[in-house]
Amino acid sequence: EPLFSAIPMAPRDPILGITESFNADQNPEKINLGVGVYYDDNGKVPLLKCVQQAETMMLEKAAPHTYLPIDGLPAFNTAVQKMVFGEGCRGFDEKRIMTVQALGGTGALRIGADFISRFSASSHIWISNPSWENHRALFEADGFTVHTYPYYDGETRSINFNGMIAELKSMPSGSTVLLHACCHNPTGLDLSDGQWDEVIAVISERSLIPFLDMAYQGFAQSLEADGRIIRRFADNCPYLLVSNSYSKSFSLYGERIGAFSFVARSADEATRALSQVKRVIRTNYSNPSRHGAEIVTTVLSSPELYTMWDNELSDMRSRIRQMREKLAQDLSALREDLDFSYIITQNGLFSYSGLNKKQVEQLRDEHSIYAVDTGRICVAALNSGNIGRVVKAIAQVL
Ligand code: PLP
Repeated sequence: EPLFSAIPMAPRDPILGITESFNADQNPEKINLGVGVYYDDNGKVPLLKCVQQAETMMLEKAAPHTYLPIDGLPAFNTAVQKMVFGEGCRGFDEKRIMTVQALGGTGALRIGADFISRFSASSHIWISNPSWENHRALFEADGFTVHTYPYYDGETRSINFNGMIAELKSMPSGSTVLLHACCHNPTGLDLSDGQWDEVIAVISERSLIPFLDMAYQGFAQSLEADGRIIRRFADNCPYLLVSNSYSKSFSLYGERIGAFSFVARSADEATRALSQVKRVIRTNYSNPSRHGAEIVTTVLSSPELYTMWDNELSDMRSRIRQMREKLAQDLSALREDLDFSYIITQNGLFSYSGLNKKQVEQLRDEHSIYAVDTGRICVAALNSGNIGRVVKAIAQVL
């Protein structure tokens, strides 16, 4: 039998498939709300000023393109660790926290999945229902059995917290639980401080392994406030895995830059675990790429560039908020019979709009407006030029 003859066609990626259909659409007024990318008010992916300045500084140095160490740029890992866990986190002094550079948030999840699949006694992981599309596939690729815990209640458009806690309490000890640190994708609904306390308590009681995915630090409240949840887990759980991404917060999508961190119970455990994480990397891609790591490190280690970044990120966050408010307000004006306040309370790039599959198809076929089948729209792709058309179309199909 020839090698490739029996290979079936793989299913189309649900999100990237939308972009393909969008690109093929001839309507000049077409709008893509299916993406997970921040666009500015001109509909462009921004090049942040802090990034541009860092790149100018790097160019002036004219350094050769040597290999990085297996675990990445050391200065990057140190700077990221401080940013993700907050200065003065207890685990730092005790040398129980390790951070390695990764190929974006996805690469960080992949390292974490490979690592625990080799060393965890349990091959069971729970993800939220719903979750980012790639979570399930990514862990299944490593042989995990992927379960879901209740998260979104479509009827009340809020978190089914009792359901979530009940499920956590039923998980066998040693299971991994994947949680979104902030700006839950796709629902935009995050737990309150008090709810996080309860989750942390159950996770430590039942000796579950928390895996926090932070792809949107800075998009909910602020860099500092959004990161606080990581510190709380680190201070209260013996083990913790964290993936974080700079794709969105630095607008560095194509550089594939992020990090994987973990907390162990002792320095000795952490050192042994790091040696194995490095083996995972070495056998996957040997060592990560330089450019994105150098940009992020340059910004994080310069007080001036850091402030610039913080401001630029805050501008992105405010623009999304403004779009949320306008979307809710203008929809309410056209559809007084419906409540749109949920759009304002959600965090991050997305809104779980409540549109069903049929309405999403109608938006696409009749208005050339593209959303994800589940009704997820990217609020960060709205701008003053296209929001009017989007509001009218949504009000019509609802
Ligand atoms: N995790 C979540 C929840 C995401 O939404 C995303 C990106 O959309 C990622 C991880 C992956 O990020 P990256 O593009 O850096 O791989």
